[in-house]
Amino acid sequence: MARASKLPVAVLGATGAVGQRFVQLLAAHPWFEIAVVTGSERSVGRRYGEVTRWILPEAIPAAVAGLTVQPTEQVAEVPIAFSALPTEQARALEPQWARAGVFVCSNASAFRMDPLVPLLIPEVNPEHLGIVERQQRERGWRGAIITNPNCATITLVIPLKPLHDAFGVQRLMVTTLQAVSGAGYPGVASLDILDNLIPNIADGGEEAKIESEPRKLLGRLVDGSFQDAPLGISAQVTRVPVLDGHTAAVAVAFARRPAPDEAIACLREWRAPEPVRSLPSAPPAPVVVRDEPDRPQPRRDRDLYGGMGTTVGRVRSCSLFDLRFVALSHNTIRGAAGGAILNAELLVAQGIVG
Ligand code: NAP
Repeated sequence: MARASKLPVAVLGATGAVGQRFVQLLAAHPWFEIAVVTGSERSVGRRYGEVTRWILPEAIPAAVAGLTVQPTEQVAEVPIAFSALPTEQARALEPQWARAGVFVCSNASAFRMDPLVPLLIPEVNPEHLGIVERQQRERGWRGAIITNPNCATITLVIPLKPLHDAFGVQRLMVTTLQAVSGAGYPGVASLDILDNLIPNIADGGEEAKIESEPRKLLGRLVDGSFQDAPLGISAQVTRVPVLDGHTAAVAVAFARRPAPDEAIACLREWRAPEPVRSLPSAPPAPVVVRDEPDRPQPRRDRDLYGGMGTTVGRVRSCSLFDLRFVALSHNTIRGAAGGAILNAELLVAQGIVG
């Protein structure tokens, strides 16, 4: 789909770890162009290039470096805003933007489980966008809020989707090994994480998200309401001294037990539905299965398909459940900014924004 001109967009919380990924990924985007960046009182009124402690390898895109950081309370005249706000600020400010007519594609957890808000992975549940009309009607908003899941939920749910459709996931255990960039900037203190591992994130909050969000994502939209998938999930999370890339070690029980080869074929054959697979940020295949016994690895696999791919390996039988595997994806790209940009592309492709 070619566009005559690019849509102006805002990035809310543009100076942080996820905000910077938005700025990087949108720099050469074919449909979107950053017109507005916002931050906290710390940054407002100063040039983005001066106030941002840039943590990505390439230089700050020149067109954005010169923008003056705006207050997030001041809604801009843009059709789409990408939100990388902390949860409490998102809860207070995202509805103001939606009410004023902006489609907010949010990374924050504030509205993910709201019964009127889609929790979206375009390859997994694009039909959940069907709730947007009801959201607008009942909230009295001209715009809307669309969320993407927790970064570790995304690593887990992308490979689960084709397996669930084919074999019926009933219950699972997942242990995550999550990168330090998942904690934002400056994030975890080096004296806590170097030569170490921390078996807790957000005081149990991360585990609660991983145990609840997949039910909504793999559930159905029926007569304008979400019906959760009846999965049993037990999650344990760890923060590990990896820069980017969340790993999930998963054991799953199904309604029909697949042989490992059947599960591998199912993952390899899975393609996103149209129009998702043709969107500019969509990876050629949602999942790549590696045969080597020591993959996936964060440093070697996180940048698959520009960070939008999910790598799965070690697919094998499980002595307690039915199947085991290890999945990995890039937490600030697939799990955050890239995922939200893909959500916005679907809004445009479906004519909801444009
Ligand atoms: P971060 O590095 O701490 O950045 C936070 C951003 O929010 C900064 O741009 C900051 O601006 C801005 N901000 C803080 N207080 C504000 C206020 N009162 N008003 C307006 N802006 C304010 O955090 P992050 O890791 O980028 O995470 C951002 C959001 O994405 C969070 O909700 C997080 O849970 C979610 N998320 C993160 C990841 C990940 O992998 N990191 C993945 C998925 C989802 P100043 O610099 O101007 O203070």
